[in-house]
Amino acid sequence: LLRASEALSRVKPSATIAVSQKARQLKADGKDVIGLGAGEPDFDTPDHIKEAAINAIRSGQTKYTNVDGLPELKEAICAKFKRDNGLDYAPAQVNVSPGGKPVIYNAFLATLNPGDEVVIPAPYWVSYPEMALLCGAEPVFASAGVEDGFKLTPEALEAAITPRTRWVILNSPSNPTGVAYTADDLKALAAVLERHPQVLILTDDMYEHIVYDGFEFATLAQVAPNLYDRTLTMNGVSKAYAMTGWRIGYAAGPEKLIKAMAKVMSQTTSNPCSISQWASVAALNGDHGFLKPRNAAFKARRDSMLDKLKHAPGLIAPTPEGAFYIFADCGGLIGKTSQGGQFLKSDLDVCDALLTEEGVAVVPGTAFGASAGFRLSYATDDAALEEAGKRIVRFCQAAA
Ligand code: PLP
Repeated sequence: LLRASEALSRVKPSATIAVSQKARQLKADGKDVIGLGAGEPDFDTPDHIKEAAINAIRSGQTKYTNVDGLPELKEAICAKFKRDNGLDYAPAQVNVSPGGKPVIYNAFLATLNPGDEVVIPAPYWVSYPEMALLCGAEPVFASAGVEDGFKLTPEALEAAITPRTRWVILNSPSNPTGVAYTADDLKALAAVLERHPQVLILTDDMYEHIVYDGFEFATLAQVAPNLYDRTLTMNGVSKAYAMTGWRIGYAAGPEKLIKAMAKVMSQTTSNPCSISQWASVAALNGDHGFLKPRNAAFKARRDSMLDKLKHAPGLIAPTPEGAFYIFADCGGLIGKTSQGGQFLKSDLDVCDALLTEEGVAVVPGTAFGASAGFRLSYATDDAALEEAGKRIVRFCQAAA
């Protein structure tokens, strides 16, 4: 009676949950655990955005809205794409969904059939393959390993595309690696994509505003105008504006696709929360001055953690250009034994031993389709990061 649907049976439970559960258990047992697993900024939503939400409630903006977004929010999104990315979109080309995640899922539901393939560079954000599977499609992984600085190469992209490819996903800056693609990187990938006119492209630009060292963010539709007609440029307020709980994501692309996504929403979620939509209007149209000090704080944490990891034998951690993650390759620890006597045969063992013996929770690379590595989030306070860094180094130095 209660058996899962075939679609759900194809989806695996999140490997990250095992780590979080164990971390919670250890904490409950009184152990001093530092969690570096979180995928959200530790900052609060800026006050002017909260005020806009309060005003929306007070002025009665509490009813159904247009299914795929308020006209005012769609206008703000068009202005954002013009201002930040030099992209021209009309409001009819814009979708607003209850988070970035549902934007992707709505796009997949609207377009995928069983047997279709979705090309996903690995390491990848955990939900891409599972959302493709839920729609009956097949995820196809294109390796972007540590040897390529975790960036998809044109060769790996070409090799992954088949006549059944329906979507290619690009995510920059990346979760889990923080690596970002320059305009030239994207042009090289675009040259491949131009040869495959049956392919739609999703660019997940969630971390656009969280970049360091003067990195110039670029997005595919901007650098490859030939691909504009089959690119869905996705973004959202969750990360840049510290609004993960408000649930607003958005995308712009071909009008036909946007209409199809609205049809999905009209029979499933209906509109995203009206109050959150008004808050997002204020976020996109408002002052962005808060980003600079926040990014400076993130960058200082990134640098201090990377400095520590240099002294951790067995780890290789490329310097990420953005987001708030470091992805450390831990191939050098595999085959060793931890100080507590655990044989480290995989990244899962490394993360388990690190948590059990040093009380540091990180997410194993396996969860992101990369076998020997782990992701740590530095969106946490300086003192905790400092201590976590020391513990990771001690753990690696003791493994033999
Ligand atoms: N895309 C990437 C790469 C992410 O890391 C996340 C959140 O973790 C999302 C999309 C989803 O964002 P939202 O919380 O708006 O659904």
